[in-house]
Amino acid sequence: MNKVHNFSAGPGILPAEVLKQASEACINFDNMNLSLLEISHRSKNYEKVMDEARSIVKELFEVGDEYEVLYLGGGASMQFAMIPYNLLRENGTAAYVNTGVWASKAIKEAKMIGNTNVIASSEDKKFTYIPKGYDIPKDADYLHITSNNTIYGTQLKQFPKSPIPLVCDMSSDIFSRKINAKDFDVIYAGAQKNMGPAGSTMIMVKKDALGKTGRKMLSMLDYQVHIKGGSMYNTPPVFPIYVSLLTLQWLKKNGGIAWIEKINQQKADLLYNEIDRNALFFGTVEKEDRSNMNVCFLLHKQELEAEFDKLWKEANISGIRGHRDVGGYRASLYNALPLESVQVLVDVMKEFEKKFA
Ligand SMILES: *Cc1c(COP(=O)(O)O)cnc(C)c1O
Repeated sequence: MNKVHNFSAGPGILPAEVLKQASEACINFDNMNLSLLEISHRSKNYEKVMDEARSIVKELFEVGDEYEVLYLGGGASMQFAMIPYNLLRENGTAAYVNTGVWASKAIKEAKMIGNTNVIASSEDKKFTYIPKGYDIPKDADYLHITSNNTIYGTQLKQFPKSPIPLVCDMSSDIFSRKINAKDFDVIYAGAQKNMGPAGSTMIMVKKDALGKTGRKMLSMLDYQVHIKGGSMYNTPPVFPIYVSLLTLQWLKKNGGIAWIEKINQQKADLLYNEIDRNALFFGTVEKEDRSNMNVCFLLHKQELEAEFDKLWKEANISGIRGHRDVGGYRASLYNALPLESVQVLVDVMKEFEKKFA
């Protein structure tokens, strides 16, 4: 089998050893001679998975018991509703920064629940930069930001110093770089970009941020209900949680976030340097806001796309077609993508330049 270089934007690449362990668990989990897919989530063997999946997040983020970790279904999109539902007081206001499609969807849901104030936006330039230097209203219940904009390829290099609780959608760059997790009241991420397969969403929430809305809460939408149930108020997405745990164990074993951050920087530098050097390509966003996870680039001569496509497909590259909103190309450099794959792409770009520049 030829190795495929998988630049998929999401669901994204997972470590090969994780896929192997996961497939073994489908047949014989934890030496039970049963599949992980056919046992009770209340079994001792699975409770261990859930406990570890929750504690490893706190360990990697270096936070203590003031935080709780949940794994819920519904994707990051479900959190667009659960965040305001759990944090926005009935007469309060929520502040949002609009940096792309996902942030816009989060804003849309928040508006359904209460007063929502969009305090900064980069929509004026098609989300090709990160707004900076805006004032954060001190009387808002929280500020919601998106750390990495998967579709447009921008990333917050510096988080705002917020006088109010900070809530962050980290779906596409969670555990990719060092952050000060204690600066956040809520961090959430759909697992399928950078920490596991689709089907579960990780939410890390500061306990004392909850219970203040004055709202009567539906059980399934109430973080406190899920916390009380140990993330098992109802049947959790058992398999996606297990595979997320394996992925985080892989990260920890290899040296944790400090290790991966270095490699992610090397990967991003390698590709952006080639985009800037190569006469045929250009990047689509402000240089200082370039994402280390999703690298968006276009051809100066769009008519050469079919030729470029042929070359990268021959090199066993997969998943670099751009999102339909941006066009061109998007290479996603998630944690599990090796530097070697980026080198293959860069070599293809150089070969393409030789032929067509
Ligand atoms: C993919 C993505 C989402 C949506 O995730 P779902 O799990 O599909 O709901 C939200 N935010 C960001 C930043 C994303 O990249």
